[in-house]
Amino acid sequence: MRILFLGAPGSGKGTQCKKLADILKLAHLSSGDLLREAVLLGTEAGKKAKDFMDKGQLVPDEVLIKMFKDKLSSKECANGFILDGFPRNIAQAKALDQLLTDLNQQLTSVIDLQIPDHLLTERITGRRICSNKSCNAVYHIRFSPPKADNVCDLCGAPLMQRSDDKEELVKSRLDIYHQLTEPLIDFYDEKLLLRTVDAQGKPDDIFADIMKTLKSTQKS
Ligand code: AMP
Repeated sequence: MRILFLGAPGSGKGTQCKKLADILKLAHLSSGDLLREAVLLGTEAGKKAKDFMDKGQLVPDEVLIKMFKDKLSSKECANGFILDGFPRNIAQAKALDQLLTDLNQQLTSVIDLQIPDHLLTERITGRRICSNKSCNAVYHIRFSPPKADNVCDLCGAPLMQRSDDKEELVKSRLDIYHQLTEPLIDFYDEKLLLRTVDAQGKPDDIFADIMKTLKSTQKS
């Protein structure tokens, strides 16, 4: 399966994609995680991306397109993949079409996680992530707190807040989503790939809806 997820920052894309990738044994390609790793490693892509990410702006398309060209043609993706956070605008979506055509592949479905804006701000600003890069577990101070304050349940490392999850950047990230990323909903609807899932409920219920949607897509 080759699945693409759309959804605003804070819609729960990362959490759902991680779980889905584990269960379906697919590669999980999160553009945000790949960029954060590149910044930490100080690669060329990371150096180009850092300032844009710190400001909550989109990193230039060519950085993402090169990154995903390398990933999609790697062995890791041979049995299928889940794209999380790429593409984020029409130019990237067209570039992805071309990359997949070159690999003789097609997307099998596009899932849009729908959630109203007023719920997103609280979700984003309350998010905490494990500081251990090989763990990367995600918590929320109100909706899914860790057992001990500020400590990861899975590996015991301290939790941290992503710098772009601070309140002052959230509005501009949501504006960018509506202006540049939301047009992808029509782009993929026209290709008859789009499925919408309500992302307002509990993570387990949303996951069940995603599985149901994927099963119905396979049958149709
Ligand atoms: P995320 O973890 O998906 O919220 O992404 C964090 C940040 O990485 C975004 O605010 C952007 O600065 C950058 N980013 C992630 N994916 C993309 C993309 N497809 N195009 C441009 N910038 C991106």
